[in-house]
Amino acid sequence: MNRKGIMFIISAPSGAGKTTLCYKLVEICSKLCISVSYTTRKPRQGEIDGVHYHFVNDDTFNNMILADEFLEWAKVHDHLYGTSKKKTDEILTQGLDILLNIDVQGSRLLRANIPDSVLIFILPPSMEILEKRLKGRMSDSEETILKRIKKAKNEIMEYKHYDYVIVNNILEEALIQLKSVVIAERLKVSRTEHIWIKENFL
Ligand code: ADP
Ligand code: 5GP
Repeated sequence: MNRKGIMFIISAPSGAGKTTLCYKLVEICSKLCISVSYTTRKPRQGEIDGVHYHFVNDDTFNNMILADEFLEWAKVHDHLYGTSKKKTDEILTQGLDILLNIDVQGSRLLRANIPDSVLIFILPPSMEILEKRLKGRMSDSEETILKRIKKAKNEIMEYKHYDYVIVNNILEEALIQLKSVVIAERLKVSRTEHIWIKENFL
């Protein structure tokens, strides 16, 4: 079948586990690629340029905005983050599905522009566990962690605009749920190649 890829958009308050889930999901789902965003944030320990993000400075990011190179971009937690139009398009036109780990502002924008995108919201089991995970990650200062926790409530309020909600309590369970969403979305009649069915069976 000659299909165009599906855009899966994942959002969650910082620390809920979406990055962990995204990397595990692409390991167990074929034909699914992670979108590598551009950001002006500094790399955390262990993060690799071109793998986790394309790390750029403000000037480069602003020039990319002017050149209309972003499908969407947003300021999140004091830094700029954006999704490349060209790279997303290359993946989707190859018939591969793409997984975007983006914030609630970016998700809204993409849903408006790409109505058949699939929006998934990840929740932590509780606010206490969210805080524990942020602290346990040991990658952000106390001030940054406090900012992220403060913002979590506003982000969680957006869950109603999503198609699916997954609680990331036991990682393996959340992962199975996420994979189930991908499989179910791929099987939707609305995404079927009707021409292929007609030519082969009718
Ligand atoms: P996000 O991308 O949403 O900010 P991360 O994927 O970086 O979150 O996860 C935050 C921290 O929580 C990491 O240290 C990660 O290993 C841990 N974590 C993620 N999911 C779980 C889970 N289900 N149970 C326990 N710890 C988890
Ligand atoms: P972090 O700094 O923890 O990696 O990411 C902070 C937030 O930025 C997360 O909510 C993440 O989903 C979001 N984010 C990452 N890349 C993009 C992007 O390309 N666009 C938007 N709008 N948000 C992004």
